[in-house]
Amino acid sequence: MSLNLMQSILNKIEEYNRIFIFRHIRMDGDCTGSTKGLKRILQLSYPQKEIYLIDEQRSDFLAFLGEDDAPVADELYAGALALVLDTGTSDRISNKKYRLCKEIVKIDHHIPVDDYGVINWVEENRSSTCEMIAYFYNTFKDRLKMDAQAATYLYTGMVTDSGRFRFREVDGDTMRLAGSLLDFGIDVDTLYANLYMQSFDSLKYKAYIYKNMKISENGVCYFYVSNATQKKLNISREEASAGISAIENIKDSLIWIAFIENDDKSIRVRLRSRFVTCSEIGEKYHGGGHACASGATVYSKKEMEALVADADARLKEYKETHGGWL
Ligand code: AMP
Repeated sequence: MSLNLMQSILNKIEEYNRIFIFRHIRMDGDCTGSTKGLKRILQLSYPQKEIYLIDEQRSDFLAFLGEDDAPVADELYAGALALVLDTGTSDRISNKKYRLCKEIVKIDHHIPVDDYGVINWVEENRSSTCEMIAYFYNTFKDRLKMDAQAATYLYTGMVTDSGRFRFREVDGDTMRLAGSLLDFGIDVDTLYANLYMQSFDSLKYKAYIYKNMKISENGVCYFYVSNATQKKLNISREEASAGISAIENIKDSLIWIAFIENDDKSIRVRLRSRFVTCSEIGEKYHGGGHACASGATVYSKKEMEALVADADARLKEYKETHGGWL
């Protein structure tokens, strides 16, 4: 099944002279690594083709992977192929000019709710889209070229989206594909130094989280950070959002949530869990994602409390019907 899809994607790529690659809003390691990695593979493999990756978003934490391409005239999009990576729904595509392209191909590992491509290669059991691109490369090695730079992009997304190879989607295939990327000579010292570096202010922010986090009756741990607090602590929205990882290992707290206020007063929700699936909660509150890692948006403190109550009820039910959790 996936072999046929991959073959038809390769045929599409070979058919078009101009290709644009797209990723999701709120860029992360996987959408950045997979788009940059695929762009590099296509440039190495088809030097005569024009391959663009245009995105106005910036991320401090991913800046070490380098800049994307400068914007180009709208006319260039017309007649081109759009390859959209790691993006479950079309409204989450960051560069809206994908609409100007002639055809769209979707390559993704999120729960499939929106088949917006002419070809939709979606494998929700894959730990990352980077893993899918590594698989794509390995399948067509005789036609495609890879180098250390492309491998570094893909490995970065594999490492970050799998929680450093910790999540349940990680299987033998993940490790074999990661191993095949390492064979290209990735500088893992530099990569991990970039991934783990923290600023003084972000450590002070962690202290704020630990002081202000709350826990519901059945063990949902959560915290809220207002816009004013983000400014006072001198942290970017990206750093504020990354705070979710500060509360991920609390015993008996199988669901944990960060509520981060945006400039427009809406509140970004980052929902995480172990053992228990809670993506349906993300979906209920204008979001979605994966079984144990999803996102949502709420528009008031009241809605925030309702979401916590739903998560608490989910956790109560889970604890009553399952044993062996931590
Ligand atoms: P985040 O907390 O933003 O890192 O989101 C966790 C996962 O859920 C990521 O894979 C996101 O791509 C996905 N996700 C976040 N928000 C949404 C949304 N509104 N709709 C669909 N998927 C989402």
